[in-house]
Amino acid sequence: MNKMAACIFCKIIKGEIPSFKLFESDKVLAFLDIQPLSRGHALVIPKHHGVKLTDIPDDSLADILQVLKKIAIATGAENYNVLQNNGRLAHQEVDHVHFHLIPKPNTTEGLGIGWPAQKMDMDELKKLYETLKAKM
Ligand code: 5GP
Ligand code: ZN
Repeated sequence: MNKMAACIFCKIIKGEIPSFKLFESDKVLAFLDIQPLSRGHALVIPKHHGVKLTDIPDDSLADILQVLKKIAIATGAENYNVLQNNGRLAHQEVDHVHFHLIPKPNTTEGLGIGWPAQKMDMDELKKLYETLKAKM
């Protein structure tokens, strides 16, 4: 079986695994997360199978922010996070690109974030900027 055939989110797209679908278009599907971090936690995925953001063609990504916005409005959440993990080290568990919409109703529910900000030397930052800018 190839990776796409085994993919749990491809199975959800095909209706082989049930889900609570919130939105569907030819390119995008949104559904409730089965193990939510908070009430209303939802996932928005491109129908195109790819593991990481960089594997997805631009036209399959185009509608995703609008769908996240629709869900954010529908939940009525005042505070919420949009999260998209790429790779095991970055907490990706399902290898089909997905964007989380996670309401943050209080300090304990929703997304908890570690934010280990580092001191940065301005010359270093400028060098980094020039390297990246040249590749954009
Ligand atoms: P990741 O850690 O890969 O960014 O998040 C994967 C998410 O997919 C988790 O929040 C998990 O609860 C959700 N998930 C995994 N399997 C299923 C499933 O079969 N159905 C639904 N609706 N969500 C799932
Ligand atoms: Zn897939």
